[in-house]
Amino acid sequence: MFDSLSAKLTGAFSSLRSRGKISTSDIENTCADIRSALLESDVALSVVDSFINVIREKSLTALPNIQSGTNQAQAIFEIVNTELVEILGGAARRIRFAKNPPTVIMLAGLQGAGKTTLAGKLAKFYLDQGNTPLLVASDLQRPNAVTQLQVVGDSVGVPVFAPEPGNGVGDPVKVAEQALIFAKSKLYNMVIVDTAGRLGVDEELMKQAIKIRDAVKPDEILFVVDSMIGQDAVRTAKAFEDGVGFDGVVLTKLDGDARGGAALSIAKLTGRPIMFSSNGEKLTDFDIFYPERMASRILGMGDVATLAEQAKKALDGQSTAKLEEKFARGDDFTLEDFLEQLEAMSKMGSMSKLLGMLPGAGAMKKQIENFDESEIVRTKSIVQSMTPLERRDPKVLNGSRRARIAIGAGRKVQDVNSLVDKFAAAQKMMRQMRKGGGMPPAMAQSMGMPPGMGAGQMAPQKAQQPAKKKSKSGNPAKRAAEERG
Ligand code: GDP
Repeated sequence: MFDSLSAKLTGAFSSLRSRGKISTSDIENTCADIRSALLESDVALSVVDSFINVIREKSLTALPNIQSGTNQAQAIFEIVNTELVEILGGAARRIRFAKNPPTVIMLAGLQGAGKTTLAGKLAKFYLDQGNTPLLVASDLQRPNAVTQLQVVGDSVGVPVFAPEPGNGVGDPVKVAEQALIFAKSKLYNMVIVDTAGRLGVDEELMKQAIKIRDAVKPDEILFVVDSMIGQDAVRTAKAFEDGVGFDGVVLTKLDGDARGGAALSIAKLTGRPIMFSSNGEKLTDFDIFYPERMASRILGMGDVATLAEQAKKALDGQSTAKLEEKFARGDDFTLEDFLEQLEAMSKMGSMSKLLGMLPGAGAMKKQIENFDESEIVRTKSIVQSMTPLERRDPKVLNGSRRARIAIGAGRKVQDVNSLVDKFAAAQKMMRQMRKGGGMPPAMAQSMGMPPGMGAGQMAPQKAQQPAKKKSKSGNPAKRAAEERG
């Protein structure tokens, strides 16, 4: 979503870095570039102007105290990063749980914003953390909203309180009230109330939302907004803020390719934090919103923290520990380990999304978009057709063995050859990374391992070079910036 903004900001900084000593007019030019990039991305004018003023002022103050041009450029970059995090809401905030359960979360927003889908995502997210959520069908307006919520609830294994059929029938306030009584009697510790939206903000919609709010006294009202609706996102947010009020924002459809800057203005303009983001239709396409990670992505430094987290989630603890031990012992990474990783990768979701989190992914947008997801399945079938011995020691793979594997996997011998070659290259790269003291295994796996999945193209050149100098920063995003600087 922020690709074009990211590309422009990256361009502004590489031009700044190419200067020797940085002058006041260089700062002015950079501020002008950043300003136009933000405006083109639809960030609200007032937000942009105050942002630029802070950047200018802080950069001018910092500049005289720094000697080298490279360090000056880096200092300005850090200032922009810090301010961007600030615009995005500062520190991430989590849901406040009620002292006396159930914790009530009410979803509000326009029709089509993604509330019902989000209800399912939230339910799954909190269920996985050991909570006992109950979904409540108080959207009795939108055709099929009740059935949709029931389908979503079934798919995540969360019960749905839906006494009314919807499609214009039933009282949504009563449903919400009854749901609360039901949840208390059955000891659910969380209640997620889906409410009706309209195509545009209207009085009736707001009145209904207020009545539901007053009936269930939510611990959190989440305003759900489609990031693709441009400046309307800000106007709608203002209307909901003045109407029902809300405690936090959820940005949906961040996977879209609209400019998305309006979404960036919401936290600043409403003073409410963005708490979650949704980036796809699947129930797993959802995450806590971390301003720091988003800023890092926008500034072209990727989001390795989320990437590593997802890798950790997908790889069960045992196999991660096993791999870490292997790594520590200096053992080789085998096709058996690789198969385990392929299984894990399939659990992690779309590879294009994962690759998009790598630093510099913006520059590889085309390759990432063209990434063939079914390659993982094909690669898996080849490895699965090998014997355990062959997986541990691919050197035994002579012509006849390769032919047998190809038949077993329904592939050509060339495909088997290509996988074996790429695997050997990836194995070599892992050895080099280990020597360089590089990344933690879970991250290395997700970044460097996958032969047949573009590893050759994606693996950053830097990873193959011996580490030049020990980085000073413990923050991966900063470290990447230091290395670039
Ligand atoms: P509601 O009217 O607010 O309840 O909206 P829905 O939950 O029915 O969502 C409207 C449409 O947007 C559906 O087709 C969803 O599948 C889709 N949708 C929801 N969230 C996302 C998202 O993050 N990304 C994408 N691409 N589609 C989404």
